[in-house]
Amino acid sequence: MVIVYIGLGSNLFEPKKQVTRAVEELKNLPRSKFVKASSLYSSKPMGPKDQPNYINAIVAIETRLMPIELLNYTQEIEKKRGRLRKNEHWGPRILDLDVILFGNETINSERLTVPHYGIKDRKFVLYPLLEIVPDLQLPDGTKLRTLLKSS
Ligand code: ATP
Ligand code: MG
Ligand code: MG
Repeated sequence: MVIVYIGLGSNLFEPKKQVTRAVEELKNLPRSKFVKASSLYSSKPMGPKDQPNYINAIVAIETRLMPIELLNYTQEIEKKRGRLRKNEHWGPRILDLDVILFGNETINSERLTVPHYGIKDRKFVLYPLLEIVPDLQLPDGTKLRTLLKSS
């Protein structure tokens, strides 16, 4: 089993409900065991400012899925919630599920970059991570606490 951290975000159609519901769905991932979820956090939008604030959370899961299988499942959940992939980068969305960390693995494939490229400077990822895994270290050895001090 590998421990993975999934970042959740929503700013449309009752974001708190969207995130809570997605957490429930992530509890049912095959070949996986739910570990814990952070509280819900509120954050200002990145990119276009003319959109509602976001609700974010992080979920920790132990899994035997391969990274790409996990991405297939998380994208399926996004799609079920009606997430439409538009051209606008960082535009409003019903649900965003990002694979933040996959154990200690570093992945650079066409569909998957892990650790997620935004982890180091996104407070809406760092704070919920701090809540559930305060001693976290990234695969490159950077400590979560160090990132928070410098952000
Ligand atoms: P950002 O990646 O800046 O948070 P976003 O989450 O809005 O933006 P999406 O539209 O959800 O971006 O995803 C775009 C593509 O990113 C997906 O098609 C997926 O293949 C790819 N991707 C690469 N790495 C990851 C990852 N770690 N988690 C989720 N998707 C990823
Ligand atoms: Mg994202
Ligand atoms: Mg995404």
